Parts: sequence; C-alpha cells; structure tokens
Amino acid sequence: MTASPETFVIVGAGLAGAKAAETLRGEGFDGRLVMVGDEPERPYERPPLSKDFLRGEADGKPYVHETSFYDENAIELWSSTRVTGLDAGLQELLLEGDRRLGYDRLLLATGAVPRRLDVPGAELDGIHYLRTVADSERIGARLEAGKRLVVVGSGWIGAEIAAAARQKGCEVTMLEMASLPLERVLGPELGRVYLDLHRANGVEFLPETTVDRFEGEGAVRRVITRDGAEIETDFAVVGIGVAPRTGLVETAGLRIDNGIVVDEHLRTSAANVFAAGDVANVRHPFYEQHLRVEHWDTALHQGPVAAKNMLGGSVPYDRIPYFFSDQYDSGMEYSGHATDWDEVVFRGDTDTREFIAFWLKDGRVVAGMNMNVWDVSDPIRELIGSRRQLDPDQLADPDAPLDELLKAAGRPDRDEHALSAWASEGGSF
Ligand SMILES: Cc1cc2nc3c(=O)[nH]c(=O)nc-3n(C[C@H](O)[C@H](O)[C@H](O)COP(=O)(O)OP(=O)(O)OC[C@H]3O[C@@H](n4cnc5c(N)ncnc54)[C@H](O)[C@@H]3O)c2cc1C
Repeated sequence: MTASPETFVIVGAGLAGAKAAETLRGEGFDGRLVMVGDEPERPYERPPLSKDFLRGEADGKPYVHETSFYDENAIELWSSTRVTGLDAGLQELLLEGDRRLGYDRLLLATGAVPRRLDVPGAELDGIHYLRTVADSERIGARLEAGKRLVVVGSGWIGAEIAAAARQKGCEVTMLEMASLPLERVLGPELGRVYLDLHRANGVEFLPETTVDRFEGEGAVRRVITRDGAEIETDFAVVGIGVAPRTGLVETAGLRIDNGIVVDEHLRTSAANVFAAGDVANVRHPFYEQHLRVEHWDTALHQGPVAAKNMLGGSVPYDRIPYFFSDQYDSGMEYSGHATDWDEVVFRGDTDTREFIAFWLKDGRVVAGMNMNVWDVSDPIRELIGSRRQLDPDQLADPDAPLDELLKAAGRPDRDEHALSAWASEGGSF
C-alpha cells in the first residue's frame, strides 16, 4: 500500500486537535500529519484545572493521550511552536522564526484565551487568569488555608475557582457584575441555587460589583470597587470569559464573526480549511443558527467530525450542546441551549440540591440541568430533540420516568428505531 502524499496540519494541540488527529489515523489517513501547538505540553484536558488538579489532588496532568501515542501514530507534534499566519491561497502556514509549512488540509483548533481586565493596577503581581496547566499550578500553589482571595467574575471558571479555594481553606470574596452567580447562562432561578451553594460554603458574594482598580506595592493587596469598597487580599483571580483565538487567520480572508465561521461540516470559508472547538462558530442544523460553544464535550466531538470531513466525508455536527461543572459536593450537567424561556420547571429539591431543572419555551424543553442526579442527560437531550410540547406537571413529577414523557406526549415524527439509535449515539441527531 502506498502512503498518501498529502500533508494534513492541525493548529492547536488541545482537545479538539488531539481528537481530530486520533480520528484521522483511526480512519486510515496514512499521509503526513503535523500538529502544531504553542504550549510546551502535549494535548491535555482543561476541566480538571479548576477542580482536582487545582486543589493538588489529581494523579498527574490530565493528558488526552499517553506520550507514546504520537510516535505510535506517526503524528509529528510540534510543541512550543506558534503559528503566526496563514496564506489560504498558497495553502501555507507561517510559523515563528519565519518557517513555512504547507498543507493539503488544515484544521484550526486554536481554542480561546481569557479576556483581560483592563483597569489600573492590572499589571501587579498576584492577579491570575486560568487557562493552562501552568496557570493552574501557579494558582494552586497559592491556595493555602487562611489566605485571602478575590475572584472577579462568577461564571463557571470563577465559581469553580472559588469552590476549590474554599475547599483549601482560603477566605474567598467573589465579585460579580450581575446579581447572582452564573445568572448570565442559567438565569435567576438557578443563579439563586448557586448563590446558596457558595454562601453555604463560606464565600462572600458581592453582587452588582465591578472592579475600579487593583492596588499594591508590586503585588496586589487591595481591590477597589467602582462603588468605593476596598477589599484587602493576598491574590486575585479574574474569570470574566474568553475570546476565540482567531489572531492567526485575521488577515487570511477567512470569515470571522465571534470565532471562525464554519458550516455544519466544520468547513471554513477557505478551501481545505476546517475549524473545531472553542474557536469555531458552527452552523448548527438543529438550531438553524451559528453557535460557538466553549465546552469540553464540543471539542471532544467536533475534532472527530472535522477529521472525517477533512478525509472527504460530509458528516454534520449536530450534537445538542452539553457541559458539566463540579463545585464543592455538587455536580451538574447541562444539556441544550436556552437564551429565552417562559418558565423553569423543577423536578426534585433545590434546597438539598438534588434536582433536574427544565427550561421551557412554548411548552417545549429547550434545556435541562441535572444537579446531583445522574444518568439523565440522554433522555433530557431526547426531550429537547423531539421539540414536543410537554406537560410541565409531568416534567416536575419525580415518579414520571423521563423516557416515558415522550410517549405521553406522542412520539416525534421519526420511527422508534431511528430515535433509539439516535439516543444510543449520545443524542446526536
Ligand atoms: C480551567 C478550565 C476549566 C474548564 N472546565 C470545564 C468543565 O468543567 N466543563 C466543560 O464542559 N468545559 C470546561 N472547560 C472548557 C473546555 O476545557 C474547553 O471548551 C476546551 O478545552 C476547548 O478545547 P479546544 O481544543 O477547542 O481549545 P484549547 O483547549 O484552548 O486548545 C487550543 C490550543 O491551541 C493553542 N494555540 C492557539 N493559537 C495557537 C497558534 N497560533 N499557534 C499554535 N498553537 C496555538 C493553544 O495554546 C491551546 O493549547 C474548562 C476550561 C478551562 C480553561
């Protein structure tokens, strides 16, 4: 058998890139395969960086593959190498040091970068951001009992850092522009659940609070808020969201709009160039709109879809978005995409934090979140995918099995076999 003369290049050695490389070899691609990443590490998973790895309780770094995987699969992993530009016409990448690398197919999986807080004092030591293993190690080394930490932002990263810091005995103050933690994603009903969770664990939560400046001699010692409050601290972590890393393609003529715009096959507007993971703004066939999803599950599944399409396939990326978070003793999973809803129906008890919440729009489930209740993501995704109107009382009734609800509402317009095959594939339809 002759090896393919083609060169496939993946820029970004994160989860999406690593899963794409694995799939390319798994699907039989035997040409040259190069993965270029600017971090010194081989690809790793980020979720533990704000959880057990941050608390110093993980068993090593959370690598996606063993070191031997890259040699065994003839994947050239160019670590600590930044790609600085793309010539989509010549099908060539520009690398640091003026090197060039040609490709036949290219996957852009460059992820996202934390948004910086641009206020006076932002350059002081002791103000941290969390994206990489190195960031997590730096912050983790500071999580000592009795130390004071200000967390700016109460999205997923901020909330998980606050939880880890409390678990290590730090005194934590969390500042948030909105009224409640996680309110922007989950709305007020679930924001209150997270407020209670953090308060019960000793976090001081300051709502409707923004940072005016940081103060200190060399290192941060105080956070001054816009309403003039002064919070003494030993260090700070800022978690105010991320921006897609589109820098290297900005002059390459690719369509960029909240990330690299791709169709449902993860193809960019340039020939032979694909994008996946946090950086990709993907046309989603179910939602009939573009979605850029910054979650582990998306990187995990878009990498393989991109790989199959790089090999000439036409596989749509149509998975319902999913993510998870662990804070203290409370784990949750969220499925769906809700930006607008009429009501939130609870099945279970928010006080004991064992429940499923359903977001309903026009009587249809658009999202579901299970907290400390497990093995329900597939039926939740099935409810969302069915687009059926459901009885809120039944959704709220813990004795009504979720997989029976669709039957009660009348089956969707697809046959039983197709539906169960869809569910067993993890809800991709
Ligand atoms: C601390 C933390 C905790 C998280 N926890 C959860 C969680 O609990 N649940 C959940 O669902 N999601 C979580 N996420 C989100 C999830 O980890 C991301 O969605 C996922 O990592 C995205 O993978 P990716 O491969 O698209 O991008 P990344 O993992 O960001 O990988 C992209 C890689 O490309 C490199 N790169 C970028 N530009 C260049 C360039 N020009 N040249 C070379 N290399 C380049 C980057 O340095 C990086 O290594 C968390 C994220 C973080 C940071």
